[in-house]
Amino acid sequence: MPKLLTGLVDQDGDDFIANMDRAGVHASMIMMIDVGAPVFGEEPETPLERQIEFYGEVQRRHRGRLYSHAYVDRRRPDHVALLRRAIVDHGLVGIGELTPDGVPVSHAEFYPTMKLAAEHGVPVQIHTRAGVWTDLEALDYSEANPVHPVHVADLARKLPDLKIILCHAGYSKWWQVAAEAIADLPNCVLDISNWNESFADDPGDMVARIATWRSIVGIDRILFASDQPSGLRFTGERSHLPAWADFIRNLPEIGWQWGYTFTEEEAAKIAGKNALRFYGLG
Ligand SMILES: [Zn+2]
Repeated sequence: MPKLLTGLVDQDGDDFIANMDRAGVHASMIMMIDVGAPVFGEEPETPLERQIEFYGEVQRRHRGRLYSHAYVDRRRPDHVALLRRAIVDHGLVGIGELTPDGVPVSHAEFYPTMKLAAEHGVPVQIHTRAGVWTDLEALDYSEANPVHPVHVADLARKLPDLKIILCHAGYSKWWQVAAEAIADLPNCVLDISNWNESFADDPGDMVARIATWRSIVGIDRILFASDQPSGLRFTGERSHLPAWADFIRNLPEIGWQWGYTFTEEEAAKIAGKNALRFYGLG
């Protein structure tokens, strides 16, 4: 375990920035997760308050290049206070990544978190992919799974002022239902992280998928994303980020090979313009 963990360590974000530079990526959104006592019954060595401070420090160190998010499990009595401090005192730009555990995200237990996000105008990143830490093999693809995208749509209907990011855009089997569920909900966007794991196997398939998302939700609601971890195990030669960023950058030429038309402007929107607009970071 110590060996594995060392490979993930990046004390100040510098490794991550070097990896972004290799891929020609200017800015990234950094996520925090909370899988302590409420999920696995054991607390991390670093308390959540200190973790949030760390993300604030990383954001300040790499101003304009790394934007941090905070997440605190809904079952912690002080979760709203911690999240409010993250946004107000540390200037973190969003909440997430939130992986619904036990109940779907539309459940009343998540309301205090969601109301806080809506009140401060910060997006919430919600995991929409079968196969989470409590179900690693992704055995449940039904709507009974709390991470199914339909529950995000339910939440978005209840809180139309809440900005929601559907992380992974329903990877892998829910990609179409994810887009359909939010088609009429302009407060929701798709992030295409994790598709970098498989796009190289069949680029034509990926092009067709992006074109279908464009038809269903519009080009303005598709956000480039990678789920890129930091640390030596995942950055440098091992990182998919350069190839993935190139794929989106070259979408007009690559799309043409497979019979789809994408303009340079559409590629630029997916690559970053949409995220800047959605976060209000202009
Ligand atoms: Zn996720």
